[in-house]
Amino acid sequence: MTRKTLLTLAFLMCILNFASAQKTLTPKEHFGFNIGDNYKLADYTQTEAYFKKIAASSDRVKLVNIGLTEEGRTQYMMIVSSPANIKNLDRYKEISLKMARAEGLTEKEAQALATEGKAVVWIDGGLHATETVGTHQLIQTMYKLVSGNDAETLRILDEVIVLLVHANPDGQELVSDWYMSNPDTLKRSYSQLPRLYQKYVGHDNNRDFFMMNMAETKNISKQLYVEWMPQILYNHHQAGPAGSVVAGPPYRDPFNYNISPLTITSIDGVGAAMISRLNAEGKPGFTARNGASFSTWYNGGLRTTSYFHNVIGLLTEIIGNPTPSAVPLVTSRLIPSGNTPNPVTPRKWYFQQSIDYSVSLNYAVMDYAARNREHLLFNIYTMGKSAIEAGSKDYWTLTPKKIDAINSAYRADLADKKISDSIARLARSRGDEMPMKYYDQVFADLTQRDARGYIITASQPDFPTAVTFINALIWSGIKVHKATADFTVEGKNYPAGSFVVMTNQAFRPHVLDMFDPQDHPNDFQYPGGPPIRPYDIAGWTPAYSMGFKFDRFVNPFSGPFSAVPYGEIQSVAGKFKKSGSDAGYILDCQTNNSFIAVNDLLKSGAEVYRLTKQSTGKNAAKQGSFFVTKGKGDAVLEKDAASLGINITAVSGKPETATGKVVAGRIALWDQYGGSMSSGWLRWILEQNRFPFSLRCNSRTYPGRRSGWQRSLQRNCSKGRRCSSGIP
Ligand SMILES: [Zn+2]
Repeated sequence: MTRKTLLTLAFLMCILNFASAQKTLTPKEHFGFNIGDNYKLADYTQTEAYFKKIAASSDRVKLVNIGLTEEGRTQYMMIVSSPANIKNLDRYKEISLKMARAEGLTEKEAQALATEGKAVVWIDGGLHATETVGTHQLIQTMYKLVSGNDAETLRILDEVIVLLVHANPDGQELVSDWYMSNPDTLKRSYSQLPRLYQKYVGHDNNRDFFMMNMAETKNISKQLYVEWMPQILYNHHQAGPAGSVVAGPPYRDPFNYNISPLTITSIDGVGAAMISRLNAEGKPGFTARNGASFSTWYNGGLRTTSYFHNVIGLLTEIIGNPTPSAVPLVTSRLIPSGNTPNPVTPRKWYFQQSIDYSVSLNYAVMDYAARNREHLLFNIYTMGKSAIEAGSKDYWTLTPKKIDAINSAYRADLADKKISDSIARLARSRGDEMPMKYYDQVFADLTQRDARGYIITASQPDFPTAVTFINALIWSGIKVHKATADFTVEGKNYPAGSFVVMTNQAFRPHVLDMFDPQDHPNDFQYPGGPPIRPYDIAGWTPAYSMGFKFDRFVNPFSGPFSAVPYGEIQSVAGKFKKSGSDAGYILDCQTNNSFIAVNDLLKSGAEVYRLTKQSTGKNAAKQGSFFVTKGKGDAVLEKDAASLGINITAVSGKPETATGKVVAGRIALWDQYGGSMSSGWLRWILEQNRFPFSLRCNSRTYPGRRSGWQRSLQRNCSKGRRCSSGIP
């Protein structure tokens, strides 16, 4: 090639790059301001329109509708990668899932797939809507990825499939519109928001990722654990602790003993890349580990649930708002340490800086993924494979209670004069060492083994609630089996339709954590000192709190089990047989869904009675169960038996104990201007169970300066009337 041709080529490439950069609509052209400008926020309507325009104009983007929000908006995920990868997404998704699930995959096959596949990185924003850096960094990051032609961006696009996910569209619309509605920019603020930024649970939308109650949680979990299985998940929040700019990985103890050690050390690896990038760019103020309160103990946040799926989950909490703020003077953070290697000194702080930090941190994560693509893919396979192996053999997880049992047995012997002398001699000669027999007492004890699996029998009164639990596992990508015929395990009979959850699966940590009680380590400031407050909840176990029955087996077992396809939500049909001689029907009070049916029956005008005592005779029913007179409610019963999974028993006479006539209670639900998470959760529960209620607000009001629904909500609140009417 001649020098002239080369020059021409270079020139042409410049034009091409220029043309490509020109094609991408800038945020300023679309929103009318730069992302990061003072006093400016984009709302969801504008953001959604931007996402659509960018997706339509770029072959680096695929826009995916991941479902509706609780308020009915469309929630989007933008898949960003090179045009070649975008064309081949199905294959890369398949590889990502295969590697994460690790089923029947040899190391050689896994190695080949790791070479062929692309790293998958999830970045979300806006879960907590007043943490406005979240959504805005998402917009800016998408713009940079789509328009950028620098070497790093191009390498990322080639090696990584980036999933940019809006975590809470409803919240962005509310918060941004509220903030921007004040024409006086200097007075713009998030304070006095009229309601929660998630319709029911507000901030608790980040406590729902093991139960899957809210629409957004289901949308997100399905993409994470059923559709894609990214190797890295980055969940953006704010604000960092006073005197820092951003808190992030790695996190402090306690770490949850169910999580793979490789997950934890991988968080260290990516965390180091994030901190180092900020340091290299002269961006001080990152704090990690004991510099903040975040641990890896809790399972149920958007970030933390990922650990129980072998995903490298990252959370950052950054400062910054469109209204300029300041880094205050906090002297305890000013001495460099392992937690805070590059302290930030007090200074004025602008939104743009927070956006720049966030984009840098995203790029650090994506660059790490691009450079370590094969490792990431192979490591998630390794974690999945180890989990399958641990669930396929006798295995004792190292838990605080087991270690305590060793210590107590040892201490008891030391206190026993007859044997303490020889032990004490041994202890003196070996330092901290204990005789192995204390270890064996626990770790050879067959009763202390981890579960091989759990069986949820279909023959239990509240099977529909058990199915709700099973569906929470299925939304979370867990492999569930269903019995195709009756079977027996360890002498106990189970009917066809029972569910089985085995622990020999890649996401074993999540299975163990959902069924077994948590064993939080003693975490005190010093021996005898005050406890260190856990970052979040210390115990959960829905398999206990939901009240259904299940059996836990530490021995291997098998049966006529068929795997439910991943992500296939389960339902159960109840039994309801009518005949001409029926006087009415019994609904079992042990089934939670019976209460929903009773609410439906009362609405239909049917007569419902409660059994004040257990009834006798052929179809004896428990005290508290319901009797419905045949007639007005029959159609409701027909429908509810099918959709709610309740078994309804026909009886030829009204039970003698069915003396308590049921009338709908008058329920008023307290709420307040600004909303309340407790009230919101209860509102959701009442709606789910179809209890009629009326929302009453206290008289706390906000000085009127708004229009439309905001003013009407305030008016209703101030009169103590229903305030739901003003809630869009
Ligand atoms: Zn947050």
